[in-house]
Amino acid sequence: MSTTNQPDLLAAAQAILPDLVDLRRRLHRTPEVGLQLPATQAIVAEELRALGLEPRLGTSTTSATAVIEGALPGPTILLRADMDGLPLLEETGLEFASETPGTMHACGHDTHMTMLLGAARLLVARREQLAGRVLLMFQPGEEGYHGARFMLEEGLLDRPEDEEVTGAFAFHIWTGHATGTVHVRPGAFLAAADFIDLVIRGRGGHASEPHKTVDPIPVAAEVVLALQSMVTRRGDVFDPTVVTISHVDAGTTHNIIPETAFLQGTIRTVSEDNRAAVHGWVRRVVEGVCGAHGVTAELRIDPGYPVTFNDPAFAAFAADVARDVVGPDAVIEMANPIMGAEDFSYVLQRVPGAMFFVGARPPEEDPATAPQNHSNRVRHHEPAMAVGAAVYAGVALRHLAGS
Ligand SMILES: [Zn+2]
Repeated sequence: MSTTNQPDLLAAAQAILPDLVDLRRRLHRTPEVGLQLPATQAIVAEELRALGLEPRLGTSTTSATAVIEGALPGPTILLRADMDGLPLLEETGLEFASETPGTMHACGHDTHMTMLLGAARLLVARREQLAGRVLLMFQPGEEGYHGARFMLEEGLLDRPEDEEVTGAFAFHIWTGHATGTVHVRPGAFLAAADFIDLVIRGRGGHASEPHKTVDPIPVAAEVVLALQSMVTRRGDVFDPTVVTISHVDAGTTHNIIPETAFLQGTIRTVSEDNRAAVHGWVRRVVEGVCGAHGVTAELRIDPGYPVTFNDPAFAAFAADVARDVVGPDAVIEMANPIMGAEDFSYVLQRVPGAMFFVGARPPEEDPATAPQNHSNRVRHHEPAMAVGAAVYAGVALRHLAGS
């Protein structure tokens, strides 16, 4: 049963777009990085209060949540937006560019907060259709700081009034796609991202007498290549693995063999089984190559965000909502997951739900060269926010209506 006319949601979101643009530009001017974002939290809290909602502020981080109580009884759906910027010097030339040098909303989290606040406005106006509650989640620290995990540890899903959280949904804005398109995928959506730190320890000495040293540099080179052979020979091509050694540091000058070589890198996988297996392979290759050459290996693999896994039934439902809201041609099935990572994955480990992309490439940009998220020149096309707000609201209305 559908209790709402979905195309009307898009028209309603487009009607409030000028306000959303103002809000987004306010947020864009004042980005903050990490888990403590007091100025950002203050804007979000003020906007929630303006809607008649009571923000609850985080204790370990500057998160904010609020609950929209529907007129009818029912379960709770969680809608999430992240809040943090990146440590970049903005060079977009926009008149509302960051006023904090070295800090920029380069991943579009300013648009995420705005889309979710826009959805909240649409939902508050439709409370009488709302059969349950909408839990709005605003989280800091998505860019590697595990902000969502902190909120879960603070009891985000454990409060008595939230016991029936039956679904969760989030958008990520993306300049890789045309404005207004929605990109959907059941199952693995984004990868798990884990981090390698390796110290290879030999014995230093004179570069002219390598036989009197234990040179860690050729071993480091062999480890880098052996890891790539490992990926192609051990990994199932239908369960993708990326291992990238992204940082190599050893030695000081021409005539010294150093004692150590230092390597850093990342492991990306899209299934938890493969993730555990790859950790084991990396350990074996590192220990084997280092053992063969008589150096010691000090290896650390730090787990980052888990796989962002879209519940297939929920993803199909939310894609259906998106087709109703923006039209079937604007909803595109992704052939493959993306090997980036997201900490909304922690929420999706607890609640069946989904994350989708909403395209926001300015029409004047060439798709081949448009600056991407995390570029200090990225520009997100603001009309995409109406699509995001409308789909967020539609997913909540229809999930709670049980259709
Ligand atoms: Zn992001």
